[in-house]
Amino acid sequence: MKAMEDQVVQEELGYQDDEESFFQDIDLLQKHGIEPGFLTAFEYSEKRKMVFHVSTGSQEFDKLLGGGIESMAITEAFGEFRTGKTQLSHTLCVTAQLPGTNGYTGGKIIFIDTENTFRPDRLRDIADRFNVDHEAVLDNVLYARAYTSEHQMELLDYVAAKFHEEAGIFKLLVQDFYKLTVLRISVPVFFHYNYLPSMITMQIIDSIMALFRVDFSGRGELAERQQKLAQMLSRLQKISEEYNVAVFVTNQMTADPGATMTFQADPKKPIGGHILAHASTTRISLRKGRGELRIAKIYDSPEMPENEATFAITAGGIGDAKE
Ligand code: ATP
Ligand code: MG
Repeated sequence: MKAMEDQVVQEELGYQDDEESFFQDIDLLQKHGIEPGFLTAFEYSEKRKMVFHVSTGSQEFDKLLGGGIESMAITEAFGEFRTGKTQLSHTLCVTAQLPGTNGYTGGKIIFIDTENTFRPDRLRDIADRFNVDHEAVLDNVLYARAYTSEHQMELLDYVAAKFHEEAGIFKLLVQDFYKLTVLRISVPVFFHYNYLPSMITMQIIDSIMALFRVDFSGRGELAERQQKLAQMLSRLQKISEEYNVAVFVTNQMTADPGATMTFQADPKKPIGGHILAHASTTRISLRKGRGELRIAKIYDSPEMPENEATFAITAGGIGDAKE
């Protein structure tokens, strides 16, 4: 009994020590490259200033999205077959390499293909439209084919490691920034980050759900599927926010069994359930128009209204509809 009391007291003392060294601990964590989660709203707004947009290739479509596919976010495009999801994915492989607004100088792309529909020749055609060198364009796209949902996850682990390595300079800058704020040195923070052309700035998965759908097709497997999906999406979120990456994923649609009871005009919905719905910052629904025309609609966005834009699928990738 006595011994146990001693133990309890000792543990409590240890606990108090921990509390007292809280700020030292933060310092220690930072030295090891681990940041505490808190920022002031001002610091966060400074971080948000690094957000850039990658053009879809269509001005109308870009306008709908407030400039294009946003970094520090996950953008999901879903639609039925032939609505242009893969064509948009290809176009982004080229436009992400072009200079953009807000000091963006272009970057490399990681492309995870789950349906074996990636075609380097399409990149050549799209590169021609933007007058950029074929070889340079192809060199800047890191391609991987995923065969199972587990493989897809492993590839993302590799990607996370790659970002850690490639974005070293970016991380260092962010850490200096954090150090200043933790030490409470009240210098105005002129936090500026120049994009290095060698860095990975875009991550594409075409399509995010295809393999999950196959691997967890049984009725009783839905819960497990959603759990694995949540894990993967949290990794994607971390990549996008920590390394200022524009994450773009495509998704399929399925018949909504609940919709037959209601009077919904379009009884189909994107798959992935609430997990994907919440993880995606911006959701775009794509549908067919006449000929090569397609219509994009904002389905869910934190800051853009539910508008529509018409674009075209051309030999040079996604473009504007001709008048
Ligand atoms: P899925 O759900 O089957 O993956 P998707 O939404 O990915 O469909 P895409 O493959 O992006 O569809 O789009 C297919 C459309 O793109 C077709 O209508 C096709 O005519 C058009 N397309 C493909 N290649 C070209 C090209 N080189 N020039 C013009 N249009 C093309
Ligand atoms: Mg496709």
